[in-house]
Amino acid sequence: MTKEILEQLQAEYPHAVRLHESMQNHTSFRLGGPADALAIPHSLEELRGILAFCGRHELPIFVMGNGSNLLVRDGGIRAVVIKISGALSTIRLTEYGLEAEAGISLSAVAHAAVDAGLGGLEFAAGIPGTLGGGVMMNAGAYGGEMKDVVRHVIALDYDGQEHCFSNEDLQFGYRKCYLQGRDLIVAKVGLNLREQDPNVSRALIADYNQRRREKQPLHLPSAGSVFKRPPGHYAGQLIEEAGLKGKRIGGAEVSTMHAGFIVNVGNATARDVEDLIHYVQQEVFAKFSVHLEPEVRIVGEYYGPLFLD
Ligand SMILES: Cc1cc2nc3c(=O)[nH]c(=O)nc-3n(C[C@H](O)[C@H](O)[C@H](O)COP(=O)(O)OP(=O)(O)OC[C@H]3O[C@@H](n4cnc5c(N)ncnc54)[C@H](O)[C@@H]3O)c2cc1C
Repeated sequence: MTKEILEQLQAEYPHAVRLHESMQNHTSFRLGGPADALAIPHSLEELRGILAFCGRHELPIFVMGNGSNLLVRDGGIRAVVIKISGALSTIRLTEYGLEAEAGISLSAVAHAAVDAGLGGLEFAAGIPGTLGGGVMMNAGAYGGEMKDVVRHVIALDYDGQEHCFSNEDLQFGYRKCYLQGRDLIVAKVGLNLREQDPNVSRALIADYNQRRREKQPLHLPSAGSVFKRPPGHYAGQLIEEAGLKGKRIGGAEVSTMHAGFIVNVGNATARDVEDLIHYVQQEVFAKFSVHLEPEVRIVGEYYGPLFLD
């Protein structure tokens, strides 16, 4: 990727594009090397324009939401990172519930639903991702998951063409969705919600948030649960029983509060976190013969670019 082309991208979209942007500022782990370019489109039209530019110049693309399930390696990302976040967050009520742009936070869309007297999304109010990221990961908590509420998704391919997927098309599974790995960008999501007394919804959200505060190390940077739940077990319980609570590598620590979380206790590198992930996997496998599969998405390069011509 040449410097001139990236500078041209920035010149065309000065409010949306930053060059060599540290991913520390865009991930909940608060670590990670620089993206060659980071674009935060303010509208779907601008997103289409940026996609067209990338297409014309054959620039690789990586799409993200809030970065709350990402471990970006220390060398950063050799691509144009397109961040679908708060700028793309319009919302409208519909006869089935609501439709919103993918950049809205799960918390904001859940509270907007409650204010409109709609229930069903309370489980998602404390998940710190975007609606688009929630769909991609089939995010879930407290017995609910996105699969239960998504009616349809409107996604853009990298040529800017729209594709509509029904709930069935999306083939949701545990932290899985058909769109993963397919060069598609979740742009809008329709949610099937039901009428519900806002006070009931608010009480549910307050209860879930209280439970999170009691059990999760929300005061430290993390990406939530690092590992998927292995069939028949709980990852956090296995890690705790393996005696790994508090285990540290560099600035990364298996949380003393919740062993399923790895937290950044100060200046952790992505390498520290990845090494700790591997260490935990090895120890748990040695003790219980259970393989822990990461839930967190590990992306990017170990080393930065040698040069940018
Ligand atoms: C404190 C804490 C608590 C958490 N609790 C939970 C929980 O209870 N349940 C749970 O399921 N998760 C939880 N998570 C993890 C995380 O919040 C979810 O996985 C969330 O859905 C990720 O959304 P995001 O917008 O941050 O996506 P990102 O982390 O930015 O991206 C996740 C994946 O989705 C892709 N992606 C994101 N947006 C788009 C888009 N618009 N189009 C195409 N691809 C996209 C990315 O390429 C990446 O592969 C927690 C995380 C933290 C830090």
